[in-house]
Amino acid sequence: MTICVVGHSNPDTDSVMSSIALAALLNAQGKAATACMQNTADALNPESKMLLERFGLAAPELLTDAAGKEIALVDFSDLAQGPANLASATVVTIVDHHKIGDVTTNNPILFRAEPVGCTGTVLNKMYKEAGIAIPQNIARGMLAAILSDTVNFKSPTCTDDDKAAVAELKKVADVADTDGLFMDMLKAKSSVAGVPIKDLLFRDFKDFDMKGNKVGVGQLELATVDQVAEIREDLIKAMKEVKAEGRHSVLLMLTDVVKEGTDLVVISDDPALIEKAFNGKLQGTSMWVDGMMSRKKQTIPNLQKAFGC
Ligand code: MG
Ligand code: MG
Ligand code: MG
Repeated sequence: MTICVVGHSNPDTDSVMSSIALAALLNAQGKAATACMQNTADALNPESKMLLERFGLAAPELLTDAAGKEIALVDFSDLAQGPANLASATVVTIVDHHKIGDVTTNNPILFRAEPVGCTGTVLNKMYKEAGIAIPQNIARGMLAAILSDTVNFKSPTCTDDDKAAVAELKKVADVADTDGLFMDMLKAKSSVAGVPIKDLLFRDFKDFDMKGNKVGVGQLELATVDQVAEIREDLIKAMKEVKAEGRHSVLLMLTDVVKEGTDLVVISDDPALIEKAFNGKLQGTSMWVDGMMSRKKQTIPNLQKAFGC
């Protein structure tokens, strides 16, 4: 059976590039595998779209239902972030860099998770250990994924391993100017003009279970928070609608990559709890949290602590 390699829903560049890279690695090892994603190609975020085009890589195939399939997961291991019926599929491999989620298996599997900034960094190691050369366009994709996930090394999730992986991948990818590549990515990813508001909110959005409360946290990485000034009210309206679908809270991180902080917009049943989580004070629906760059390493752990998880 062909293994479907899939990243989390609302895929980011790491999920897209890692599904391509792991599928290619499995293929090189004689295993049938296809890169997949849970959204149609037109729903890809503009950064990933730009990169696929630039590097001549095909978008992963659509996979919305995992029933009866052999699945490899990249960049997540939470059922809530996977395709329908993931719990009854056969998960054969997981490669990740997040906290371990709630996926379970009936058989032993290859499970490789490391506390690094990007799945691409883990995959670079796996290629090396397997003695398999990374095709140039895939190396470019992995390199871009690491720059994306680590916010060009500025995120607190970035490790020495990520920097080492970029140094290695640069050579294979023949990309000399990674800062230039990152600025092109930032330009693409922070473009909000003409994008439907809900698409913006869901561009990088994840749901989490906090002691039985559903909490959705989205993030937009921006060159400046001013980019969303004109649509802020529309974003808040959309957040209220999304919260009304059964969530305790909806948070939107408007992350200023240059100032290295986040304008955190909060729609919640318990705003005081969110204020406590970030040791801040909401001005209306938002507060500036200096230094907040990473949902995984900063936002979620603080929320879990506040919710008593
Ligand atoms: Mg990701
Ligand atoms: Mg990632
Ligand atoms: Mg990310």
